[in-house]
Amino acid sequence: MNAVNLLGFDLEGLAAYCEQLGEKRFRATQLFRWIHKRGASDFDQMSDLAKSLRDKLASRAQITALPVISEHVSADGTIKWLFDVGAGDAVEAVYIPESDRGTLCISSQAGCAVGCRFCSTGHQGFSRNLDTAEIIAQLWYAEHSLRRRQGSDERVISNVVMMGMGEPLQNYSALLPALRMMLDDHGYGLSRRRVTVSTSGVVPMIDRLRDDCPVALAVSLHSPVDALRDQLVPLNKKYPIAELLDACNRYLERAPRDFITFEYCMLDGVNDTPELAHELVELLRGHVSCKINLIPFNPFPASGLTRSSRERVTAFADILIKSGLITTVRKTRGDDIDAACGQLAGEVQDRTSAYVRMVRAPVLVKAAVVALPS
Ligand code: SF4
Repeated sequence: MNAVNLLGFDLEGLAAYCEQLGEKRFRATQLFRWIHKRGASDFDQMSDLAKSLRDKLASRAQITALPVISEHVSADGTIKWLFDVGAGDAVEAVYIPESDRGTLCISSQAGCAVGCRFCSTGHQGFSRNLDTAEIIAQLWYAEHSLRRRQGSDERVISNVVMMGMGEPLQNYSALLPALRMMLDDHGYGLSRRRVTVSTSGVVPMIDRLRDDCPVALAVSLHSPVDALRDQLVPLNKKYPIAELLDACNRYLERAPRDFITFEYCMLDGVNDTPELAHELVELLRGHVSCKINLIPFNPFPASGLTRSSRERVTAFADILIKSGLITTVRKTRGDDIDAACGQLAGEVQDRTSAYVRMVRAPVLVKAAVVALPS
């Protein structure tokens, strides 16, 4: 019998599992706290659980992190881990420390099926969904290894952004329990405002998330007009901009923040013209409460795209700001370890040669360096 990985259970799931073992449901809370609050992976550490339960768990269950292929630490403190998820697939997580918060960017899929034009992950295709244990294992490992490093039990990660590899809303059944574990006071105790799901615009699942577990929402927009967005984000053909914005407004009825973050990757000569800036203003101002995050593109050869110049980004941002749209230009972090957006595929190929043939797309394209409001 394969041992079940308890990292895959939210508190409700763990309670059901304890009942299956003939244990009281409240034991699940103790167990859950040991795993997620204290980072325990050995049942013998769990001193307030009866020896008989610990033995039962040891014979049927495990708490297993993902094997770490590599870790790189930037001069600015950014840390990037590459995790092995088996069968030649790998995913990455990036920790971004700032003075008032610690943000972890994590992956939801190995590869991605959406195929955005400017995204290295999208270019390399979809391998598989991560399960809940694989999603939460990135947070579990990062939080507890960072605590050990700082030599205290103080929480390190205050914000989680689902902006790594994959479209989280196309892996909803695994995502939802992972979000609940992040929010659970017996787990990571993060506020809904500090957990962000980033989507390319899977409209029906935006509605599901609003009903099931509303957290902060970021939407990859990248164009104010359908004809161009169809090319940049192919999912737009299925869920065009008007439908997406309607879903955003429905989401705002229950969102923990009173705005949606729109991500806009600046592509030279493609979506960075003054005309499109004005179209963006027309589209959003007065229609959706939002903030806009302009992202420097990190080029990769297969894209055929280049990064907008600083001058073009500034001119674009000025139009938005003067029109009253709250706009930030994302700063890059971890440049010296290639942890900025879209740089990770090259890093993997350079430094983990044993994985070159196998790793499909270990790249954080969307937001390894996001600076969200606290
Ligand atoms: S930007 Fe996101 S949704 Fe688009 S292909 Fe890349 S990972 Fe997938």
